[in-house]
Amino acid sequence: MTQKSDYGFETIAVHAGASPDPVTGARATPIYQTSSYVFEDVDQAASLFNLQTFGNIYTRLTNPTVSVLEERVATLEGGAAALAVASGHAAQMVLMFALLEPGENFVASSKLYGGSITQFGTTFQKMGWHCTFCDPDDPDSFPAAIDEKTKAIFIESSSNPGGVITDIERFVEIAHAHGIPLIVDNTCASPWGCRPFDWGADLVVHSATKYLGGHGNSVGGVIVESGDFDWAASGRFPSIAAPCPAYHGLNFYETFGRFAVTAYGRAVGLRDLGPALSPFNAFLILTGIETLPLRMERHTANAQQVAEYLADHDQVDWVSFAGLPGAKYETLQKKYLPKGAAPLFTFGLKGGYDAGVKLVESVNLFSHLANIGETRSLILHPASTTHRQLTGDQQIAAGAGPDVVRLSIGIETIDDIIADLDQALAQF
Ligand code: PLP
Repeated sequence: MTQKSDYGFETIAVHAGASPDPVTGARATPIYQTSSYVFEDVDQAASLFNLQTFGNIYTRLTNPTVSVLEERVATLEGGAAALAVASGHAAQMVLMFALLEPGENFVASSKLYGGSITQFGTTFQKMGWHCTFCDPDDPDSFPAAIDEKTKAIFIESSSNPGGVITDIERFVEIAHAHGIPLIVDNTCASPWGCRPFDWGADLVVHSATKYLGGHGNSVGGVIVESGDFDWAASGRFPSIAAPCPAYHGLNFYETFGRFAVTAYGRAVGLRDLGPALSPFNAFLILTGIETLPLRMERHTANAQQVAEYLADHDQVDWVSFAGLPGAKYETLQKKYLPKGAAPLFTFGLKGGYDAGVKLVESVNLFSHLANIGETRSLILHPASTTHRQLTGDQQIAAGAGPDVVRLSIGIETIDDIIADLDQALAQF
């Protein structure tokens, strides 16, 4: 379990969870590229399997490199504990597996990453988990979708792709009034930009593939718990707060308290669903996190300038960037992302779908690909790629209509970024 740190964010990003290797003195966190660990004796092995002792059994459950990453992200978010898994989607699956039983449901923002909409709305149905989508711009529409089988509200702090900023404090009020936790996907803002636990959120998920890792070289995900939610109060979270048949009746909440979700996610979720993070990916993501604050400062400053350039461009219809004066989410941005709007945003081309396709084919410095949050500047036309599985209405609800182009602004020289867009827009 993580203690609140007195260190500044930059110091935490470099140090939390890591110390020199006691045997070799290695200062960088070693990659423990091992699948399993030798037991001291049978009694120690039994106590590890009974969850009576902390220690390593098998890398599907724990790994020392992955553990450093977990402690670092938990500390950056100001949470009690974290669980690192194979991808952002795996984080969402393992977390919902802890919260929901078959036949239960959760309510989610309709303006989420398109892959999450598909995962929640279609694939989770096969587990018997149902998701109702509501407009995050209208928090008051959420209570009507909540019933006695609802186990969580899920939002993105700053959404992919549209940069929709959600009123976290208001969603906390609604969730807690119904005895359920608020889950915030903090991928696009990163813990540098937004701190959901400071506003009362209960759980944070990350696609560590994006800004945390930051270099476009590894896929990973993290679940962080605040440690403050009372899982026993409502009697409606049996996986966490009732005897677990797979562990001789162990009650995770009674045993692990402030890190009950992390413990269940690891001991049952990772054990039985299996999406463990590789130690090598954990190492790459950890290394990326060391420069998270520096990169985010540059990403954010560059994005502000690109948004201002586009807002003045003749071929651009609109720019959805909360950092522009008078922007729809300006007030929420100043409150929840005070250091600047997330460096991932969309804009609309007057030429519609065809112009979007032409633009992504005309850039040189920008990479046309389906990722965000890398050092490199990235461009995507969601309607023809990531959001193409959605219906036209779902695309528009997710801020990914036919005219929409998504930019993830990198840390290159700002003049080069703008010059590349300028030459591409000049081609039509
Ligand atoms: N959440 C957000 C906001 C994302 O952008 C993504 C991926 O793009 C995910 C979750 C899923 O993460 P991953 O691709 O690591 O599974």
